[in-house]
Amino acid sequence: MQPTVANGRTTTFSTASDVQLLNNYIGGQWVPSRGIETVDVHNPARGVVIARTPMSTAQDVDLAVHSAQKAFPAWRDTPPVVRARAMFTFKMLLEEHFEDLSRIVTTEHGKTLPEARGSVRRGIECVEVACGGPSMLMGYSLEQIATGVDCQVMRQPLGVCAAIAPFNFPAMVPLWFLPFAVVCGNTFIVKPSEQVPLSQLRIFQLLEHCDLPPGVVNLVNGGREVVEAICDHPGIRGVSFVGSTPVAQAVYRRATHAGKRVQALGGAKNFIVVMPDADFDRSMPAIAESFYGCAGERCLAGSVLLPVGRAHREARDRMVETAQSMRVGDGLEPGVDMGPVISARHKDRVLGYIEKGKSDGAELVIDGRGLKVEGRSEGFFVGPTVFDGVSPSMVIGREEIFGPVASICPVRDLDHALSLVHGHPNANATSIFTSSGRAAREFARLADASMVGVNIGVAAPMAYFPFGGAKDSFFGDLKVHGRDAFQFYTDQKVTISRWF
Ligand code: NAD
Repeated sequence: MQPTVANGRTTTFSTASDVQLLNNYIGGQWVPSRGIETVDVHNPARGVVIARTPMSTAQDVDLAVHSAQKAFPAWRDTPPVVRARAMFTFKMLLEEHFEDLSRIVTTEHGKTLPEARGSVRRGIECVEVACGGPSMLMGYSLEQIATGVDCQVMRQPLGVCAAIAPFNFPAMVPLWFLPFAVVCGNTFIVKPSEQVPLSQLRIFQLLEHCDLPPGVVNLVNGGREVVEAICDHPGIRGVSFVGSTPVAQAVYRRATHAGKRVQALGGAKNFIVVMPDADFDRSMPAIAESFYGCAGERCLAGSVLLPVGRAHREARDRMVETAQSMRVGDGLEPGVDMGPVISARHKDRVLGYIEKGKSDGAELVIDGRGLKVEGRSEGFFVGPTVFDGVSPSMVIGREEIFGPVASICPVRDLDHALSLVHGHPNANATSIFTSSGRAAREFARLADASMVGVNIGVAAPMAYFPFGGAKDSFFGDLKVHGRDAFQFYTDQKVTISRWF
């Protein structure tokens, strides 16, 4: 493909001249990015370019920070109940546009429409929790801490905050942050993944109608340069990041070094334990959904299945059965169980892992390579894949694949399973399937992941609980949404008073 120049911008990939080049949203206006380069956005089921993301610059970030700084004093002083009303309006608009938004998520990400709807619903739930801001923002006080002296704690917003999002939940992940930050009285900047910017474009079109003064919410499209500018900018007080572990760690280091409050959620390698006493009929569909839902592109996806003792044979047979029966295709079509992965590059990466699993000596029981989807020959599809005999020393037993590849690693007993969970540097989520209360209790108590499922395949805390992992899956202190969000986005001011 030839590089082209359109409207003074060089596009490195696109040949389609009618493909929309996206704008940023800064200070209440849709404005062009100052970046020259663009990245193509694909519909991964069709392999076609549907938009272009501008690679914004540090100057664009600076503009957004200035507009957010300008908006901050008035927004901070806006009564929390009025700020909450803006979130009620936002919730209403998201409901009205629920189907439209879900379809955009499927179109730019590839997950099936039901999966997209689920993710948009989870995002809306964050807005609902933020609507309770006035209650959640309350401080506390004690009279008479000494004779004639009272003490009061108030929660106050930090200032300008920003969120940097990954590709796998284009609508939901920024909603883990924006509603909470804004209801707390902060002003905000979102940097979506350059691979999936269209859901946030739609969401910001809705935010335009939520009675938010210009500059309260801002959208800056782009990649690494934008992220680094956010980390470095002295006008930004808090940074929330979600993405892979190496970038999460780099962002945490860089932004904390610049004096900011940071929460950085990283990658995952999630282990799922099946005990011999599990109810296989009810457990295995949930387990298969954990491995293959969203084509394995969830930070909570099962990656390594640890069947204990005699659970191995049945777990393996059922995984194979499910993998063989799944219908892979365009997520917009009814009856499709699994969509494509995000990009041609990511597909190659997942295929590389399958090759590596084979060469490391794992048994490739179901091979998802070479899958053809009728009418979608250009789509980025990988079929459900099952490996057996995987060990933690193999690359596929160790690294995050982020694709529909299940690695079965038989273990002797629960202690053996726990030793593998503990031995991995990531600790995002883990699950156990059992009918033994004792085994479940032991596992939940001792597993070092911060999100644990008991007979639940995807242990996703809802919006009023904290979300985030441990070890190399999380860098920071306060987790995402729930009560932690109100703490992350506020400072506690203590006033001690005496009246003469
Ligand atoms: P990524 O780390 O490649 O990108 C995340 C964000 O960082 C994007 O906005 C991207 O533009 C930016 N970025 C990428 N490389 C950068 C660099 N070198 N310097 C600065 N910024 C950079 O992640 P991804 O591929 O978009 O998302 C998948 C990853 O996200 C997986 O590892 C997954 O486990 C993780 N994830 C974690 C959670 C969680 O809750 N822990 C949730 C969703 C996704």
